[in-house]
Amino acid sequence: MSAQPEGPTTAAEVPPPASCPEILTQSDHARERPAQAVHGAAFLAAPQPMLLADRNGLIVGANTAALTLLRGEGSEPLVGLIAAELLDLASDPRTWDAYREVLRGRQARLGRTRRLKHAAGHSVWVRITVSPVPGADVVLLSLSDIDAHRDLQAQLRHLRMHDPVTRLPNRALFFERLACALEAGAYEGTGATGRVGLCYLDLDGFKAVNDTLGHHVGDRLLAAVAERLTHCAQLAHHATGTPLVARLGGDEFALLVEDSTGTEQLSDLAEAVLGALREPFDLSGQHLVVSASIGVVERQVAGTSTTGLMQAADTTLYWAKADGKARWTLFDPERNARRMTRQVLSAGLRPAVERGEFVLEYQPLVRLEDGGLRGVEALVRWRHPRFGLLTPNRFIGLAEEDGSIVQLGRWVLETACRQAREWQLAHPGVPPVFVSVNVAVRQVWDSDLVADVARILDETQLAPELLQLELTESAVMGSAGRPLQALRDLSDMGVRIAIDDFGTGYSNLAYLSRLPVSVLKLDGAFVRGFQDGAGAGSGAPEDPADAVIVEAMVQLAHRLGLTVTAECVETVEQADRLRRIGCDTGQGWLYSRPVAAERISVLLADR
Ligand code: C2E
Ligand code: MG
Ligand code: MG
Repeated sequence: MSAQPEGPTTAAEVPPPASCPEILTQSDHARERPAQAVHGAAFLAAPQPMLLADRNGLIVGANTAALTLLRGEGSEPLVGLIAAELLDLASDPRTWDAYREVLRGRQARLGRTRRLKHAAGHSVWVRITVSPVPGADVVLLSLSDIDAHRDLQAQLRHLRMHDPVTRLPNRALFFERLACALEAGAYEGTGATGRVGLCYLDLDGFKAVNDTLGHHVGDRLLAAVAERLTHCAQLAHHATGTPLVARLGGDEFALLVEDSTGTEQLSDLAEAVLGALREPFDLSGQHLVVSASIGVVERQVAGTSTTGLMQAADTTLYWAKADGKARWTLFDPERNARRMTRQVLSAGLRPAVERGEFVLEYQPLVRLEDGGLRGVEALVRWRHPRFGLLTPNRFIGLAEEDGSIVQLGRWVLETACRQAREWQLAHPGVPPVFVSVNVAVRQVWDSDLVADVARILDETQLAPELLQLELTESAVMGSAGRPLQALRDLSDMGVRIAIDDFGTGYSNLAYLSRLPVSVLKLDGAFVRGFQDGAGAGSGAPEDPADAVIVEAMVQLAHRLGLTVTAECVETVEQADRLRRIGCDTGQGWLYSRPVAAERISVLLADR
């Protein structure tokens, strides 16, 4: 001890005399300086446990309360011990650094909560505050016993972190543990696997139990389920611990496996859970049979976030439900990518129409008799800024689902009609080609197709005879209401109606003959099985049943006044046979793939 304070004001500021033994005593020194002696006595007798340490961190003073708190009354003195060791201030680097800064006088204060081992064996929670003593070369370490406070806090925390119905850890605790697992697993070389697994479970039909038997039975069932899950988890105990079972809310539970070893471990657990839940539940006389669906995710911790993991689990659980419930399903990245792509595409559809990201290609419709070009089918493509050129099977279904097909369909109709008119004007010397436009069911139902067509024909000045609309059977069948009237109006206008993909739906020729339909487009599937077996080595052998059916259909269609177009004509043999049985028009790769409008212009110029 060197510096002596000039006029100390508080007891805490009194530095202990250098000679002081375990506790401050009234030394000769003190008698000479009465104020200091008083402060020393106050320090000694204060109910608050306090220690003094020199700049090297050695304890140079301790009062009775400190000795009692840490060692028990009348035990070995604390002076001479290293304060940081006694109070556990050196075990984590951040605290140690901060503590040394206070010792060096560079930091004003440090507060830490520590669980310390009492000499009698039990542990005590203490709040430690380290602060310098101005004008003296010591620091004061004052301690407060927060054991009682800690107990209460722990109890409150338990309440906050557990679900009262099942007594399981709740959502909050689950996410806390998950976050810890992801953080801890990120450190390598700890002997852990660096992986994490999750079974995300939802009871099938739990709502019905609640609704029919009441909430108290529902609650009892949840508690019983929780018990079985806990049992499964205990059986699944492995090297690094027991899976955490939590109730995430409602009838949703999760089993978290830290340091998992691979998907097999998780699928075994899921299987065990399904097995355990299969046994009927006896809820004081009520026999209940339940099942559950489980989404299983197992992956590396590195690169995994809580949100990412939970989203994957949620999607996988949804698949388990969609695939028929009462099962577990493993997360499948490819299936997920498809789902994500669908979502991205769906979200981008409407703006894409406005941004003009769609283009039309045209595929020739050829007279089978002489191979002459009669018309073209307009086929839409999406030039997607991220996914490149997309064919309609990627987005037409989505556009139908969200209704954007109406807007898109209108654009297709307009563009195709304008193009057909341009061709006609550019090639006055040849018979004009008609354009055939696909119309989706929803366009017939959800928009005023008739008005749209009338306006577009008027604006583009295209003759109605040069427009053909392709509808599927399902779009025109089944009702004598609006669609039918729409077909009549269109037909009255002079627009031709074709039934697309004929043969895949109802194939009800008799019914169709009563509608204002003039063309049947035979589905490609028919033509595909329709190879000429005699053709040397050309693809699949002919299926005679197909040939007979197609022939009968063509004859019947002709008798009903319809013309027939065959789709997907890929080989000369197919074309020959189709011509022989009387098909009128062909469309397919044999003649041309769908091409840009300019290619059609070239064809027209060559005629
Ligand atoms: P679709 O109306 O039956 O059109 C014929 C489909 O068969 C086209 O596929 C065409 O590229 C393909 N195709 C043509 N010849 C051959 C061939 O020889 N072999 C094979 N394997 N395929 C051939 P694409 O362009 O992918 O269109 C698929 C479907 O998307 C169309 O079937 C149609 O239902 C729909 N679609 C296309 N454009 C539109 C549109 O603007 N509006 C609506 N609502 N649907 C459209
Ligand atoms: Mg079509
Ligand atoms: Mg078709």
